[in-house]
Amino acid sequence: PPTADDGPRPDPLDVLGTVFGYDSFRGEQAEIIRTVVDGGDALVLMPTGGGKSLCYQIPALVRPGTGVVVSPLIALMQDQVDALSALGVRAGFLNSTQDPDQRRAVERDLLAGELDLLYLAPERLRVPATVELLDRARIALFAIDEAHCVSQWGHDFRPDYLELSMLHERWPDVPRIALTATATAQTRAEIATRLQLEDARQFVASFDRPNIQYRIVPKASARSQLLDLLRTEHAGDSGIVYCLSRASVEQTAAFLTAEGIPALPYHAGLDRRVRAANQSRFLREDGLVMVATIAFGMGIDKPDVRFVAHLDLPKSVEGYYQETGRAGRDGLPSTAWLAYGLQDVVQQRRMIDTSEGDAAHRRRLGAHLDAMLALCETVTCRRVQMLAYFGQDGQACGNCDTCLTPPESWDGTVPAQKLLSTVVRLERERGQRYGAGHLVDILLGKQTPRITQLGHTSLSTFGLGADLSEGEWRGVVRQLLAQGLLAVDGDGYGTLRVTEESGAVLRGEREVRLRREPERAARVRSRGSR
Ligand code: ADP
Ligand code: ZN
Repeated sequence: PPTADDGPRPDPLDVLGTVFGYDSFRGEQAEIIRTVVDGGDALVLMPTGGGKSLCYQIPALVRPGTGVVVSPLIALMQDQVDALSALGVRAGFLNSTQDPDQRRAVERDLLAGELDLLYLAPERLRVPATVELLDRARIALFAIDEAHCVSQWGHDFRPDYLELSMLHERWPDVPRIALTATATAQTRAEIATRLQLEDARQFVASFDRPNIQYRIVPKASARSQLLDLLRTEHAGDSGIVYCLSRASVEQTAAFLTAEGIPALPYHAGLDRRVRAANQSRFLREDGLVMVATIAFGMGIDKPDVRFVAHLDLPKSVEGYYQETGRAGRDGLPSTAWLAYGLQDVVQQRRMIDTSEGDAAHRRRLGAHLDAMLALCETVTCRRVQMLAYFGQDGQACGNCDTCLTPPESWDGTVPAQKLLSTVVRLERERGQRYGAGHLVDILLGKQTPRITQLGHTSLSTFGLGADLSEGEWRGVVRQLLAQGLLAVDGDGYGTLRVTEESGAVLRGEREVRLRREPERAARVRSRGSR
């Protein structure tokens, strides 16, 4: 690799070719690299697969000294260092997985000026010895990877990241580059403030991923819907299936395997070695399905992931975008598929209500969920909606489910009134606990044992909703929850309550527009349509 003394500096484009074997820069890479090579600070937003790594790796090779990369992805450091070593780049890392001997060897290389890149876990910088070590080394730049982790508003906050403003205070002359694949305008502003990067040049790449087809379907029986998707459209493909709980990860992986689809589980409760083995099989073998909690995926660079399926509702649009962004990094058509239902909304609202942290924290979680629900219930292009969330313009993509089969909306005011007034009547019966299922049974006029026992056949709304099917009613409940016209109690039963906004509906002062439930999860087949 080019050795960088104080002599003439190698040309970034030459380094791109000789070290990395590519012949041209992508997007704004050249401009970003030039900024950092010249000693300036940069804040880079680029979607997953956009090519963020080269934005600090090349300046580290061009500038004299070692490029120090702060990253929370400890599990990936060894892989990253191996990959760089294979290219002839001198790289090392310091994190908690090493023994003192290994650590000393890296420190020796650093001080001898024999490292181009040093990966560092953020908590290392809390150790005075590390700071003193860096004081004695020659530092080419600081790269702060996954910079959104500094944002308390964001979805992936890591307290250690708050300390990173010390980089600027301690080494004011060293250029810094912060990178992330996910940030709303608000998060971006927070990154800039907290890392003291207000004066940094900002590079915001388009977040559009045109080769990904986004589809969000009503959940009926999620696993068989998933099986259907894999059999009809993704036979033999590599993909990731996200589930909320470890138990559901295990069950889904076993289910797929039993159905003849090779699948592996991945979650934080598995033995570390099992996890590592499953991850490396997924990366190396073809046609494996990784069933995982969101613990899986950050920093995973597998280009041919053909689908990302969510069996449960993600907690935020940022999370959803990042998880689905692992599909199609090679630019070929890929599917992002999410099955979402009433129970998801109930469960997540309940989790927020009972979550630890203060009221402001719960409000933040609630706002994240609301944005995610708005994306699910939108009647316009999913992609436009998502880009707008990240503060970017877009045009209807013609490829997502809502573009291909525009959902109709209908006037759901009367059903909403029936439902809300049933809730109000039940609320008067103090101490009653019942979920959405019981409400729907009342509206449908079902004489279940529970309804008879509680005397709910005498409610004035009993049987008043026979004009809609059970599925349609569940859709109404789900959408009222999504629109904030219903709330879930934190009582552990998912008891529904009216909200302040419901009043206007009940008084007939507010119309309720609902999205028509697609006929039995109308399948979108459009692979060839572009
Ligand atoms: P990110 O960190 O933004 O998710 P990476 O830095 O891992 O993306 O890059 C994604 C892939 O694109 C990698 O395989 C990388 O080698 C490749 N890549 C990046 N820049 C270029 C380029 N200018 N030309 C060709 N391939 C590139
Ligand atoms: Zn669209």
